[in-house]
Amino acid sequence: MRTGSFLFREAAFIGGAWHSGSGPRIEVRNPATGGTVGHVPDLGGAETNQAIAAAAAAFPAWRTLPAGKRGELLNALHLALLTHIDDLAAIMTAEQGKPLAEARGEIQYGASFLKWFAEEARRVYGDTIPGPTSDRRILVFKEPVGVVAAITPWNFPNALIARKCAPALAAGCTVVIKPSELTPFSALALAALAEEVGFPPGVFNVVTGQPGPIGEAMTSSRDVRKLSFTGSTRVGKLLMRRSTETLKRVTLELGGNAPFIVFADADLDQAIAGLMMSKFRNAGQACVCANRILVQDEIYDEFAERLARAAGLLVVGDGMRAGVTIGPLINDAAVEKVLGHIDDARSRGARPALGGGAHVLGGRFVAPTVLTGVTTSMRVASEETFGPVAPLFRFHGEDEAIEIANSTRVGLAAYFYTQDIRRSWRVAERLEFGMVGLNSGSVSFEMAPFGGMKESGFGREGSKYGMDDYLNIKAVHIGHIN
Ligand code: NAP
Repeated sequence: MRTGSFLFREAAFIGGAWHSGSGPRIEVRNPATGGTVGHVPDLGGAETNQAIAAAAAAFPAWRTLPAGKRGELLNALHLALLTHIDDLAAIMTAEQGKPLAEARGEIQYGASFLKWFAEEARRVYGDTIPGPTSDRRILVFKEPVGVVAAITPWNFPNALIARKCAPALAAGCTVVIKPSELTPFSALALAALAEEVGFPPGVFNVVTGQPGPIGEAMTSSRDVRKLSFTGSTRVGKLLMRRSTETLKRVTLELGGNAPFIVFADADLDQAIAGLMMSKFRNAGQACVCANRILVQDEIYDEFAERLARAAGLLVVGDGMRAGVTIGPLINDAAVEKVLGHIDDARSRGARPALGGGAHVLGGRFVAPTVLTGVTTSMRVASEETFGPVAPLFRFHGEDEAIEIANSTRVGLAAYFYTQDIRRSWRVAERLEFGMVGLNSGSVSFEMAPFGGMKESGFGREGSKYGMDDYLNIKAVHIGHIN
């Protein structure tokens, strides 16, 4: 990638210094064009341990810095993201593929967590507890857990790092981040900004390389007191198993299989608009993306027609080009999986109301697709498609919709549209998901708790709960005060 920006770094950031590495390098390719974006060092366990040591060394001073000062640095980072939003978006679109406008939206979303936790840093309150006798007092302190290791995926390469680092740093923890090898440049740009605004060396580290050895070093280290992971349920389980040896605290933000239920009494304009955002944003590559669209019998045909019309207006192409609203999928494996889901559904009787296969542009572009006649025996019902495919399931009554919606091992996000106030309460309470959108296609904001149930993991990011995962509770018992 040709950019004169100081944000485009082809080196890891360890202990406040940039490491180009002397060994092999990983080539990062643009998913839209196949061209080379750049190279990053292929680091392993030794360098990860070096980063952990730097984070451990920086921890005592960082945790004792007044919370307001940590907040000031987080706020400076928030402002730096907004100042450099165009360069950051260009880097993101080059390595990840999403349209520039969406990339800018992600930077704003990521920045919002930095601002939120800059403010929350000063509000880590403890407690005083009435003691068992008149000469005792009990105090509760909240203290940072220590060094945090963060492993993040490629689909939101800026925001998912900001969502972890902001509360960790606000709490007084230091961090070592392993971004996806597919999208390391957005993480390195964040490191460049952290350096620019004056985070002390070792507080914010980014290690690039193969996931195996880096993950192994992180999970086996006794200095790492907390692992925060966002990614697939498969890898999340593996990392949790590995973390048992050192009994680290673990936060897991894992895969979803979101139902999007449209009742016959819904406002269909709102439901279509909400679904377009939830389903096709980032080409359908989001964990909270609507994966199974359940539409009540009476409105099924009309809804399918209207959705196909709306999705037909999407403009597929290179996210760098003006007017493009849907970019490529991240890699060939993703294309294969998405086309496999479409083929499986079609071979079992589903019909495309729009699209139904690869896009004419070829490469990693998949045509926005709406499938009708979809049943629960098809792969789209049980697996995360992670692509621009909207499969429409038909249901008859509320109980049936809820049963289908809940019949999944994961429980991240769910959505439903209705104008019946009593149904709103009933359905919101019965859905087994960490986040529920009622007449809303979006559930991700810095002030709201983000996280799942069941095999979507545990822990919450954002909101007033977001710092809990990075704090230890210590009880101090004071005796003989009389
Ligand atoms: P993934 O394969 O689990 O990868 C996620 C991260 O884990 C990447 O940095 C990856 O590195 C790393 N990784 C892979 N194998 C590892 C190992 N053995 N040890 C240590 N790290 C390892 O997930 P993905 O397919 O890239 O991402 C999509 C998944 O993430 C979907 O299931 C999606 O639902 C989920 N997701 C969840 C949330 C949420 O908040 N709940 C948000 C976004 C995405 P490399 O990329 O370098 O291989």
